[in-house]
Amino acid sequence: MNIAFIGLGNMGGGMAANLVKAGHQVQAFDLSTEALERAVDAGCKRYDSIEAAVAGVDAVVTMLPNGKIVEDSYRAHVFGKAPQGCLLLDCSTIDVATARGVASAATEAGYRMVDAPVSGGIAAANVGTLTFMVGGGDVDFAGAEPILSAMGKAVIHAGSAGSGQAAKICNNMLLGASMVATCEAFKLAEKLGLDLQTFYDISSKASGQNWSMTSYCPVPGVGPQSPADNGYEGGFATALMLKDLRLAMAAAKEAGANVPMGSRAEELYGELEGRGLGFKDFSNIINEL
Ligand code: NAD
Repeated sequence: MNIAFIGLGNMGGGMAANLVKAGHQVQAFDLSTEALERAVDAGCKRYDSIEAAVAGVDAVVTMLPNGKIVEDSYRAHVFGKAPQGCLLLDCSTIDVATARGVASAATEAGYRMVDAPVSGGIAAANVGTLTFMVGGGDVDFAGAEPILSAMGKAVIHAGSAGSGQAAKICNNMLLGASMVATCEAFKLAEKLGLDLQTFYDISSKASGQNWSMTSYCPVPGVGPQSPADNGYEGGFATALMLKDLRLAMAAAKEAGANVPMGSRAEELYGELEGRGLGFKDFSNIINEL
């Protein structure tokens, strides 16, 4: 297929490279020359604007920083420029309301659109093992599935437009809150005189077991290799966790949902970012409690 890829940053760069490896022609655009050059090295064709990149394609993939940029990009540069009927896939993490608004504007403008945010970080984007959560109609999901499969290990249909974003922020709110709770438990265990490896051995087989403990343990030297073993660098940045928690809080407010744990996690991660620690892995919160 002929696919336009807009936003070739930390995540999009690896994703576009995997589309090329799968045999697609990728027409790339990014505001950053450096990002574009990396994409060209990976086999993408370089374009000088979104309009130029989307001309004549079968599908458009976007991997952009936030909802405002996604909305502006589609409304001003994709609608009316990409061929009518082509499939639009937004893989960025954005708010549910904007995702629904852009999808409905896309339909009005004669396009098919899905929201397809990802779980998995830069390493997963590079090796093509992302998990995609997809919002959109059945036919559009069926069209998006083969494209997304070239970039991921799992592609799951979450429901109608916006449902991919809804699943993503609910999952990440759970992750943020469970990481804080896991860190608290290790800190208390330490203060109560428990050996942390022993506490891990017990809790990872007891009812406190959770992903933040057994797959991403915040204590160095305990559990499988994780950012804690690398000075809390190179994983999922605190700033990105905070972004997702803020999206979850906005969605909760709009939907009238009571989310006290997610709200407290948002405050705690916000404090870390305020202290200049937004670049550290989100498990670094164990050092700040
Ligand atoms: P990034 O900042 O590295 O990349 C974004 C790219 O978009 C940059 O290269 C930037 O130049 C480009 N860009 C910005 N505005 C543009 C425009 N108007 N037109 C064209 N290009 C433009 O960010 P990232 O880490 O790749 O994240 C992208 C998205 O993926 C975000 O929504 C993020 O929340 C989500 N995400 C990131 C991770 C992660 O671990 N980094 C994990 C899951 C989801």
